[in-house]
Amino acid sequence: MTGDNIDIVAKNIQAACGRAGRESKDVTLIAVSKTKPVSAIMEAYEHGIREFGENKVQELTQKAEVLPKDIRWHMIGHLQRNKVKYVVGKAALIHSVDSVRLAEEISRKAVKKKISVSILIEVNIAGEDSKFGVSPGETEALIREIAKLPGIHIEGLMTIAPYVDDAEENRQYFSALKQLSVDIKRKNIDNVNMDVLSMGMTGDYMVAVEEGASYVRVGTGIFGERQYPV
Ligand SMILES: *Cc1c(COP(=O)(O)O)cnc(C)c1O
Repeated sequence: MTGDNIDIVAKNIQAACGRAGRESKDVTLIAVSKTKPVSAIMEAYEHGIREFGENKVQELTQKAEVLPKDIRWHMIGHLQRNKVKYVVGKAALIHSVDSVRLAEEISRKAVKKKISVSILIEVNIAGEDSKFGVSPGETEALIREIAKLPGIHIEGLMTIAPYVDDAEENRQYFSALKQLSVDIKRKNIDNVNMDVLSMGMTGDYMVAVEEGASYVRVGTGIFGERQYPV
């Protein structure tokens, strides 16, 4: 079942690329495996998936420990500064950096481990009260501050769009995030890439791809509904 779902999502990404005149190799599917067991991840792995997303540090590190080493783990959830030490060196990309204080902690741990950590800046593109992320208007200033830190490298932007019934409602936000990344790229800030756009989830990833996503983060569409302990 997981394998069939992956095929469907991959086909949908390909079709969305076709509509937008993009190449499907420029879009990477991240299978969001939070709450799902190692066995489910292995099923997706055997179907060719190598990029997995988790939103909790402990879950990410525990799974990484027992799963194949060629998996690239994406930290997609809100990150607390006291957990940074566990994820630096384990996650291939941290998608959820939205403050200088958090970036400074990542930088400190990266320098200590003598590695460079790739991050995305999380933008609250729709201005929702409930969401983490920097406001679009403050994004460039935040990037300029973080870009000065050693051991940390900004690769692009990430957003979590509003939860909507009709994905078309989010097109404006995906398009706005793309435009923001183009505007910032034009400034040619040292130590900053703006090539990655992490946007789109099960409900709206096709629209996100049409608007320029380079990573889509799909959980339910691959693994089925999540069951949270009560
Ligand atoms: C859970 C989660 C996803 C995946 O959500 P689905 O709707 O199940 O595809 C994507 N991004 C983030 C940040 C998440 O926390």
